[in-house]
Amino acid sequence: MEIKINKSTLSLVEGDITKQDTEAIVNAANKTLRGGGGVDGAIHRAGGPTILEECIKIGHCETGEAVITTGGNLKAKYVVHTVGPVYRDGLHNEPKLLQNAYRNCLQLASSKGIRSIAFPSISTGAYGYPLEEAAGIALKTVITYLKEHSDIEVVRFVLFGQKALEVYERKLKTVTGNG
Ligand code: ADP
Repeated sequence: MEIKINKSTLSLVEGDITKQDTEAIVNAANKTLRGGGGVDGAIHRAGGPTILEECIKIGHCETGEAVITTGGNLKAKYVVHTVGPVYRDGLHNEPKLLQNAYRNCLQLASSKGIRSIAFPSISTGAYGYPLEEAAGIALKTVITYLKEHSDIEVVRFVLFGQKALEVYERKLKTVTGNG
């Protein structure tokens, strides 16, 4: 599924983020930036050791913030590492922190002149954010950004599995008023 926002394209696909040919891919990292499971482990395995070396030099990333490294052996030239919130009950600022994570990735990418970026579904694995809610925040945040800025031309959500893709597709229809 794909929509246009001004001159930019927002698309939803099922797949593996490590295989994307966008200029940047986003990693759902943890604060230590030392690698982990889930999408983080997959990116470090596919991208090779230089990404971790750069992460160790950077040292730390707060929840909702973003940092950038090269893409190592990946097709993507850059990896933007962000830390989503650990979901507790939704009453601990989780929505705002998730919104910050997406927005800071887009701003950092834009500041580096990046024009295409792929996101995984941040916080919805080990960090336990309910998928429907997280999808709504992710999509609204990206749409708002693309309405305000024209520098990033392609934003692709790469969902892991058919179920996650369906949830994002349904949400996109709702938030754009087509569902
Ligand atoms: P978090 O700690 O932010 O929850 P996870 O890596 O545990 O991060 O999960 C985030 C999302 O990434 C989950 O929806 C998971 O299914 C998905 N995911 C895991 N591996 C990949 C991959 N290779 N490509 C895209 N998405 C992935």
